[in-house]
Amino acid sequence: MELNWIKQSNTLCLGKEIAYYEEIDSTNTRLKAWAKEGAMEGSIVIAEEQLQGKGRLGRIWDSPKETGIWMSILVKPQIGIEKIPQITLLAGLATCEAIRKTTGLEAMIKWPNDIVVNNKKVCGILCELVNTGKDTAVIIGIGINVNSKKFPDDLPYATSLYLEGKEVYMREPIISCLLEQLEGYYIQYKKQLSLHNIIEQYKDKCINMNREVNIVSSTESYRATVKDIDVEGRLIVQKQNGIEETILAGEVSVRGLYGYI
Ligand code: ADP
Repeated sequence: MELNWIKQSNTLCLGKEIAYYEEIDSTNTRLKAWAKEGAMEGSIVIAEEQLQGKGRLGRIWDSPKETGIWMSILVKPQIGIEKIPQITLLAGLATCEAIRKTTGLEAMIKWPNDIVVNNKKVCGILCELVNTGKDTAVIIGIGINVNSKKFPDDLPYATSLYLEGKEVYMREPIISCLLEQLEGYYIQYKKQLSLHNIIEQYKDKCINMNREVNIVSSTESYRATVKDIDVEGRLIVQKQNGIEETILAGEVSVRGLYGYI
């Protein structure tokens, strides 16, 4: 990968320090260790392949060699763990826009942490809080399937930019655009530690809005209609009995009635 391209991104902070690996267990795990060793805000870890890429709730993220963007970004907003989902939303919006700008594909966000194209998943995002000893930092892990030509049978809802756009894409311009978008949103977010400036844009790109979905947690599953996303980034749904529920990112998975969306 051409790291110079990424270093020349039009950002002040994100992507100015890059650790690049041919192969790594997980970019999030690596960046967590680097944060504890004193990595500065904006540092990123990129790998060509992850051997133990992570999804939410201990799930695995399939990250084969040179086909995708397997990247983690370090930011240091002074927030508690309860606000981590807001960083997930911010990163989701930035990634969605970067994919749209660089490929022309109509990427959408599946609340809270996936990007989909043509109803299939091209990207997952996993944010984790880390206490560095000096401050708190947030690791934003982003996995984008860029030039993957096929997926294992157990990932029926996975797709790549290549499969949807019928084009091989260079990864560097996508990374660069993503960092620029993310920095813009992050600067706004840091002023008031609130999503109020971007929540409307997020909702515009959110594929779940006004749709019927299944809400799946470890203990239950029920059908509901998505009504709104509040400024905290929570999903507001109406159950079939008319009662509204407010759902925190991180607690549940949202599924379509007949498939992934
Ligand atoms: P969820 O979609 O339930 O919110 P996560 O965001 O935690 O799940 O993502 C992990 C899940 O994504 C895995 O359990 C697997 O089903 C799926 N997955 C793993 N690797 C990929 C990939 N490269 N592309 C698309 N989906 C993947």
